[in-house]
Amino acid sequence: MQRVFSTKVLRSDLEERLAELGVYTRWREEGPMPREFLLEEMAKADALITGGLRIDETLLSQAKALRVVSTTSVGYDHFDIAAMRRHGVVGTHTPGVLDDTVADLAMALVLATARRIVELDGWVRQGRWTKGFDESLFGVDVHHRTMGILGMGRIGEAVARRAHYGFGMNVLYHSRSRHPHAEASVHAVYASFDELLRQSDFVVLLTPLTPATIGLMNRDAFAKMKPSAIFINVSRGKTVVEEDLFQALQSGQIRAAGLDVFVTEPTPTDNPLLSLPNVVASPHIGSATQATRDDMDRLAVDNLIAVLEGRFEDARIVPELQDLVKEL
Ligand code: NAP
Repeated sequence: MQRVFSTKVLRSDLEERLAELGVYTRWREEGPMPREFLLEEMAKADALITGGLRIDETLLSQAKALRVVSTTSVGYDHFDIAAMRRHGVVGTHTPGVLDDTVADLAMALVLATARRIVELDGWVRQGRWTKGFDESLFGVDVHHRTMGILGMGRIGEAVARRAHYGFGMNVLYHSRSRHPHAEASVHAVYASFDELLRQSDFVVLLTPLTPATIGLMNRDAFAKMKPSAIFINVSRGKTVVEEDLFQALQSGQIRAAGLDVFVTEPTPTDNPLLSLPNVVASPHIGSATQATRDDMDRLAVDNLIAVLEGRFEDARIVPELQDLVKEL
């Protein structure tokens, strides 16, 4: 008999599958789950399913029976990999099933910032559309411009396809390694980080949050971009130094930004970035369609069951912990 604990509500058919393993628990009362309840459940759980709970030494030291943490996201920067390794806890995630949905959101931010959709929506609603429309309200073209993708992974390639086939854009990319498939399929051209920033009309950030990418987009990076360029962040908020982005936007060093993610989430309404008309903000909704969230939850449940049943090859184990299963 296995005990599965969830920090989030799942669809009833998924909860039934987890209940069939033995005991399935989650917080069912009104209001937020108290920390004491979490720690009590963690002390008994064999498996945890979660959306973004920080899995660190404090939590793992309470969780003596825990064998697997299954996150319902592709990003797993909430996993303390070293601590999970020490405790022999496998981590799984949900790559692949959300790529097109997140790529659609990236393109929505590209279009919204370039054509000033949100700003001009406000202009219409405020009754300011009284006569003609002067050039101070014009936007910039997206089609046939250059898009630079930082992080040509699964989602990066889905964005590149849209840019190339949908908008006739030139695609530059920068990653830790070359991606021959993207180079062949969408004629994406590899560039150094600096070269990509210098040449791109749209810089789309799609790296994971890691020690190497924290604050990747900072004052120096924004200074390398064209004054006409637009920055889009769909990765994680901490890949950007928000104060530096604010300065770059306010001073006209770059033209606009589309942001789905923020350093603090939910971001406070007094975040200076939200005071700028050339910022389009969305509340971390990259994968937030019903169909895709259902697919992610289903994959997370499949992953969890596969690990508990010892079918490690069927589970999407995060790359840094894949060797752990050999020791289990
Ligand atoms: P992925 O397939 O692992 O792609 C990540 C890419 O980033 C890879 O190409 C990788 O390079 C590159 N990269 C990693 N570290 C780098 C560095 N230091 N410098 C340059 N490039 C680096 O991941 P994915 O599935 O596309 O997801 C990417 C990220 O998007 C997730 O980790 C998550 O944070 C974010 N995300 C956000 C939302 C949202 O709602 N806004 C939704 C889903 C995902 P190599 O190929 O060379 O290894």
